Amino acid sequence: MTTWRVAVETQDPDPAGRSVPRAVIGHAYDIDAGKPAHPITRGTVRVHAEHDWAKTFLGWERCEQCTKKVGRKP
Ligand SMILES: [Zn+2]
Repeated sequence: MTTWRVAVETQDPDPAGRSVPRAVIGHAYDIDAGKPAHPITRGTVRVHAEHDWAKTFLGWERCEQCTKKVGRKP
């Protein structure tokens, strides 16, 4: 059974140094396989192995694509 944890994606700051709103999105991450539910190509991704995907999120947005693919149950 897959253990889904959370990978948090933070979009990189504008290289020109302008202040842009930082989108912080939580993705489902398969900790055993070492990969997310779908390829994440934007921004910087940090895996939060201590957070279960199915449980409450701490201030980031839940990815819609992951929610459709993985669902909310562990
Ligand atoms: Zn996602």
